[in-house]
Amino acid sequence: MAQLSDDCFAFNGPLLPIGEAENLIAQRIAPVDGRETVGLRAALGRVLVGDIIAPVNVPPFDNSAVDGYAVRGDDLAFDGEKRLCIVDRVTAGHAAQHNVGAGEAIRIFTGAPMPAGADTVFMQEDCRLDGDCVVVPAGLRRGANRRLAGEDMRAGTIALPAGRRLAAQHIALAAALGLTKLDVRRRVRVALFSTGDEIVEPGSALPRAALYDSNRYLLAGLIGRFDAALTDLGILSDDPKVLTRALAAAAADHDLVLTSGGVSAGEADHVRSAVESIGRLVFWRLAVKPGRPVAMGVIPGADGHGAAFIGLPGNPVAAFVTFVRVVRPLLLRLSGALPEPLIAMPARAAFSYKKRQGRREYVRAVLRRAADGIVEAHKFEQDGAGVLTSLTETDGLVELDEDVTHIEPGATVGFLSYASLIG
Ligand code: AMP
Ligand code: MG
Repeated sequence: MAQLSDDCFAFNGPLLPIGEAENLIAQRIAPVDGRETVGLRAALGRVLVGDIIAPVNVPPFDNSAVDGYAVRGDDLAFDGEKRLCIVDRVTAGHAAQHNVGAGEAIRIFTGAPMPAGADTVFMQEDCRLDGDCVVVPAGLRRGANRRLAGEDMRAGTIALPAGRRLAAQHIALAAALGLTKLDVRRRVRVALFSTGDEIVEPGSALPRAALYDSNRYLLAGLIGRFDAALTDLGILSDDPKVLTRALAAAAADHDLVLTSGGVSAGEADHVRSAVESIGRLVFWRLAVKPGRPVAMGVIPGADGHGAAFIGLPGNPVAAFVTFVRVVRPLLLRLSGALPEPLIAMPARAAFSYKKRQGRREYVRAVLRRAADGIVEAHKFEQDGAGVLTSLTETDGLVELDEDVTHIEPGATVGFLSYASLIG
């Protein structure tokens, strides 16, 4: 595991702003080593190691964008209507037998190659047949309804850059270029634990004072979106020895060790001290609500390099918010992906809210379109960091920056949809 050296973070202050945590991750975390070559379908979700240079033009030849009549641009200068003789017919996948001469047209269909001599296509809806001829209207410009070879992608240019996380559309472009295999980085290995004496596995009996584990399911689902190789290592008790042993073992063969719970300042919170006893803590509190206790550190791995460690808060909503803001950029960096900034979309606040300056806050909200057509964000009433239904019953998070102190109804706020956050 070769991504974190022991001295990679400088920050020692008590409450780290999110932006600084993100900068540290961007500057100091290196992508994992290792690559493999995979088929197109298997490449979905993986990260490209190198640039892909287009070996061919897309489209490969000039062709018609519509069903209609291919003509010469030189025949377009007229007023009223013009009658052109149809000399051939060409469908997609075939070539015309004739050239288009002066005063002539060739019946053509979408995707068919442009006949020699023709550079413009009239849409069939704009034309009228008259025996063996077609009557076309004036006013079409030269080149209309024709797609040029290479206008989508020119041979020799970068089709997909190194670091691109391959979604369906990127795989489609690789296929359009005729490629069958892609070089991708190896998957990031993530070890996942829940912690807490009160946490039990769903399906087992629920003793008094116990709680079913939801965080591991939340976090496993989120990690899955980054196509990491996940090892689910279950639930650890609030026991320093158990924690230390398990975290050290996980660091040996993972790039990232992720826990939830046990990182705040309570007497039963031993995760931080466990990390400090075997590695180094970089920060353990973020200026964010919900989610303040979130620890990041390095645990030495087997080969002298460090595995990254992130301890998320135990409250599920806090775990979600800090995953998005800390684990997401870290996973992107480790996987060699280009940064994918989260851009909040504007919405109109339908609520008032007071907050402390200097802290980023996230308000769970439902979107509704108001009578005047503007999209409004409605705050979910129960806003406790442990209220899981505040995530299941809403559409996303209103993000309130550090310098904001209050929001009144009607203010424009930034909204991050869950779809954008967990993609
Ligand atoms: P902690 O950060 O350990 O103090 O936990 C904060 C709150 O989150 C406590 O109420 C815990 O019971 C709860 N919690 C911790 N881990 C989990 C988990 N895996 N699933 C659901 N709730 C949890
Ligand atoms: Mg706990």
